[in-house]
Order: sequence, then structure tokens, then C-alpha cells
Amino acid sequence: MLDQFGRSIRYLRVSVTDRCNLRCRYCMPEEGITWVDHSAILSYEQILRLVRLAAGLGVEKVRLTGGEPLVRKGLVGLVRGIKATGGIRTVSLTTNGVLLAEQLPALLEAGLDGVNLSLDTLDRDQFAALTRRDELPRTLEGLEAALAAPGLTVKLNCVPSGDNDAQLVPLAALARDRDLTVRFIELMPIGLGDTLTRRTEDEVLSRLEKAFGPAIPCPSDPLAGPSRNVTFPGFRGQVGFISAVSHQFCQSCNRVRLTATGFLKTCLQYDHGVDLKALLDTGADDAALLEAMAEAIGRKPASHHFGGSRQARDEGRNMNQIGG
Ligand code: SAM
Ligand code: SF4
Repeated sequence: MLDQFGRSIRYLRVSVTDRCNLRCRYCMPEEGITWVDHSAILSYEQILRLVRLAAGLGVEKVRLTGGEPLVRKGLVGLVRGIKATGGIRTVSLTTNGVLLAEQLPALLEAGLDGVNLSLDTLDRDQFAALTRRDELPRTLEGLEAALAAPGLTVKLNCVPSGDNDAQLVPLAALARDRDLTVRFIELMPIGLGDTLTRRTEDEVLSRLEKAFGPAIPCPSDPLAGPSRNVTFPGFRGQVGFISAVSHQFCQSCNRVRLTATGFLKTCLQYDHGVDLKALLDTGADDAALLEAMAEAIGRKPASHHFGGSRQARDEGRNMNQIGG
């Protein structure tokens, strides 16, 4: 469906849990986390029902995220159910990769189309410092398993900060020899995102061009999202930039988010949207849910205001509660 600014909303990101097996510094605090009670989290049946209704409104691409989606039991069944939903063309997963190698065969069998794996450094000590867990070996196993899976679209997501400057070139170099897109996602001032130093797209690109030569722009696929992709001489894969702060892309935003607690969130930065779990809990029928979803999507805000001063309805959740 179209929102109030004529943007066609075709992409739903579904957070299945706020739990995670890492503690990335820009995403979650080390301690003092209040977990959402299990009773407040959408069941898989409820997620499937909402995905079916969203598909009726024009959503055709679903991404499962978290927290860490692979820590929630039974995710394979959810993937299978979403894949079987009429109108949904692709189901993909954003994961830190720690549990991926062991779960990938079943996920592939259920129809998973793509994996975005988050990885900010190839240095084990730095990984442990950035994520507060010594899990680089298992993450790399997950990456290798994904790259070996025939037909699976694999992307690597890195958030450049002052802490991993020296890793940007080695990470991008993975796209030189592998059929992989390595994307640099600008740190956003959500949750703990303000506690690290942002490196902009221009800063990262200039480092990469010094190492690999002049960037060659790649054609963009509108359904693939806001990533601006380039390649470098001799590269097999691509390097992408998702730069919400320095190169705002809100005019072409095609996504909404469903939090683990059932809030349909229409812009990353604001708390705008509708509490679908509250409606589900009061026994709302499909027509009432559809009406609430359509109304919220229709009123999707024009743009975020990252970089500006705080506003009354700014998001107060941390990224693990939203799904990125
Ligand atoms: N746990 C999974 C993972 O890390 O891929 C999925 C959830 S995580 C919240 C989704 C993405 O959000 C990750 O790629 C992470 O790096 C990114 N992220 C978290 N906080 C961020 C921030 N403040 N700015 C930009 N990206 C952020
Ligand atoms: Fe967990 Fe992903 Fe947040 Fe890291 S970015 S703490 S892996 S939810």
C-alpha cells in the first residue's frame, strides 16, 4: 500500500526476540538489561497472522531480526510458514552468525532466501571487546556456511566506528574474492548508538579507494533497499553503503517494522505506529487488525531527523528491541 507520501510499503522487518547472545556496545548495555516477559512477546502464530495481513497490504519481503533471531527456538517453522504465505516473495534473516552454522541446513530446507550477517571486525580480541563475547570463531563458521549454501543471498553488515577503522579494508576485501556484498552501515543515534564515534560513508569510501583504487558504481535494485553499491577493480563481489545520517534516503523508504512485542513501527527514529499485540490480546478480528495496520502505515512519518536535537516522540528503545 501507499503511505501518505506515496511511498509503496513492501518490506516488513520482524523482530522475533529482544534476547541476544552478544552485547555489541552500540546496541545493548553490558548489564542491567530488563528482558521483555515471554507473555509480552508475539507467538509465532501471531506473527504469521500479521505477516499474512501485511502481505494483503502489499508487503512482499520479510526479514527476521532481533535481538538475535537464532536464539529463539523454533525459528525454522516460522520461516517455513512465512514462505508459504501468499504474496511473500522472500524471507531473509539478519543474524550475528554465532548459531548460524548449526541452524542453516534446516533454515535452507524451510526456504530461507538470504542472510545478512553482522560482523565489525576480523580480529578476535577486538571482536570480544566490541561484542563483549569471544565468539568470532563461531561467527566466521556461520559466514562460511552461508557462503557455501547454493542460491542463498549473503551480505555482510559492518558498522564502522572509531574502534574498527583498521578493519574496514580487510572486511571489504572479503568481497574481492567471494561472491559477497560487504555493506557499511552508518552508526545511527538510536539507543546506545551515540556512545561510539560515527564514521561517515565518505570517510569509509576514501579509505577503501586508497586501498583498492577508484570505486565503480553498480546499478541499484529498488527492492534491495537503500544500499548504494560500488565495486572495485578486480572485485568479484560488491561493497555497499547504507548511510541514514549522511545520505538520508527517507523519500524512498519502503519498510515498516514489527517489534517482538507486536508494535508496528513505521519509522526507525520515532515511536509512531500501532500496538498490534494489544489488539490481538483483546481478540480483534482480521478486519480490525487490517484497519489498524493500514492506518498506521498511511501515517508513516516523512523522515527521521538524525543529527538534529531530540524531539518529543523520539524512539526510546535500544536497537535489540527494534531489530535494526
Ligand atoms: N542480532 C542480529 C545482528 O546483529 O545482525 C540482528 C539484530 S541487530 C539489532 C541488526 C543490525 O543492527 C546489526 O547489523 C547491527 O550492527 C545494527 N545496529 C545495531 N545498533 C545500531 C546502531 N546504533 N546504528 C547502526 N546499526 C546498528
Ligand atoms: Fe545482539 Fe545484534 Fe545487538 Fe549485537 S547488534 S547486541 S548481535 S542484537
